Amino acid sequence: MDTQLARAVVVYCASSERCDFAYHEGARRLGGLLARDNRTVVYGGGRVGSMGALADGALAAGGRVIGVLPRFLKDLELAHDGLTELHVVEDMRARKHAMLTRSQAVIALPGGSGTLEELLEAITLKRLGVYAGPIILVNMRNYYSPLLAMLANAIAERFMQEPSANIWQVVPTPDDVVPALAAALRSQP
Ligand code: AMP
Repeated sequence: MDTQLARAVVVYCASSERCDFAYHEGARRLGGLLARDNRTVVYGGGRVGSMGALADGALAAGGRVIGVLPRFLKDLELAHDGLTELHVVEDMRARKHAMLTRSQAVIALPGGSGTLEELLEAITLKRLGVYAGPIILVNMRNYYSPLLAMLANAIAERFMQEPSANIWQVVPTPDDVVPALAAALRSQP
């Protein structure tokens, strides 16, 4: 990957074409906001669902978008063909690693098991001290509330320690991401 990733953020989001269109619109809006904040968007490289909308929103605002796609998804022609850069990696695991290690912060929009897996891995790696950046959950339409309740339960049952709750931040809408990101990055050790 290139060296211009100082302001890169990874966005995890849905491939679904069948979810409420509001999620796609939220992703498109977030892409535009990040681009106007001069952030490079790193994401899964797809052209479908919220992923495609995110990339389109950032590109339309003149932003840089870097996709990281496993070879089999590129072979299925699911890649976005207008990205600033598209990196093709061997498998899903290599992709997750590449997306996380090349970014300053994690943003999770609503999504399915792929998004949830990426988000929970980032939380786990941060708990273990392997990843240090902010993790921001965008709780659009209260989508993440059940997961947040589950995490609170994990803390209440002492599977996780209380400070674990400081590992992630929750914002209600895509519009809240840029200020939350700036504040979180400012308070980084
Ligand atoms: P999901 O939330 O289950 O739709 O999964 C989305 C996440 O998994 C994205 O952040 C991608 O990294 C990956 N992913 C799943 N399906 C695709 C796809 N069709 N094209 C590209 N990436 C995908």
